[in-house]
Amino acid sequence: MQNKDRVLLITGGSRGIGAATATLAASRGYRVVINYRSQEAAAQSVVDAIRQQGGEALALQADVAREDDVRRLFESIVDHYGRLDALVNNAGILEQQGPLRDMTATRLQRVFDTNILGSFLCAREAVQRMSSREGGEGGAIVNVSSAASRLGSPNEYVDYAASKAAIDTLTIGLAKEVAADGIRVNAVRPGVIYTEIHASGGEPGRVDRVKAQVPMGRGGQPQEVANAILWLLSDEASYITGALIDISGGR
Ligand code: NAD
Repeated sequence: MQNKDRVLLITGGSRGIGAATATLAASRGYRVVINYRSQEAAAQSVVDAIRQQGGEALALQADVAREDDVRRLFESIVDHYGRLDALVNNAGILEQQGPLRDMTATRLQRVFDTNILGSFLCAREAVQRMSSREGGEGGAIVNVSSAASRLGSPNEYVDYAASKAAIDTLTIGLAKEVAADGIRVNAVRPGVIYTEIHASGGEPGRVDRVKAQVPMGRGGQPQEVANAILWLLSDEASYITGALIDISGGR
């Protein structure tokens, strides 16, 4: 199948890695659904930029941590395009840095609801629609994990790191579970990438501080993560499933 017939959903696609992935996917011919939770104007500007380049895109609101929202999101995609071929589970949050002893249950719940529950719910809805055993045509899922899943992020955000480790395990288990459905499931594990997520963790300049720990000596760009995601989604990665790909400059 040509990319131009393929429909790709990117969660949290209004900015950062999600927006870079959406833009690259559209330039390669995918019809792109950009999910956003609250940043409607930003999501719409990504859609507008894609359309100006002759691509096809649509912005749809949903909080991935809410089951009803996720169901509605996937129903809207199938209503609009009649199919779904690929999912990038990109939406994620990082909260203020600090040790576990200071973390409230409310904070832990928020992080796990978005990063883990959201990824599980979206993967479930995608599998139900893509499964070749249930009348679909197969597909591909890429989960956006983090290098934090193996570093643990002590005194910064062990909750976030643990949530990303859960995404790694989801990737490995689901890949085996749905291989016979014609669905590949992989994950990327970015290191420190120049996006706005670090400001929400209380340190806007974090990438420049941490880059000293990166063997390649620099932070990454969202485009460099998007390149790997698009490759994992593509037919060039047709025999790759259950893989966790580090995009971390060797960190
Ligand atoms: P970002 O903050 O720019 O993007 C995250 C996006 O997810 C935002 O658009 C946000 O609105 C959206 N989002 C958050 N909660 C949501 C929800 N409940 N429902 C729908 N959308 C929601 O940051 P980013 O760096 O582009 O992050 C993208 C992914 O990459 C995240 O999963 C993040 O954990 C991961 N990651 C980032 C880095 C990095 O250094 N930037 C490193 C490793 C992993």
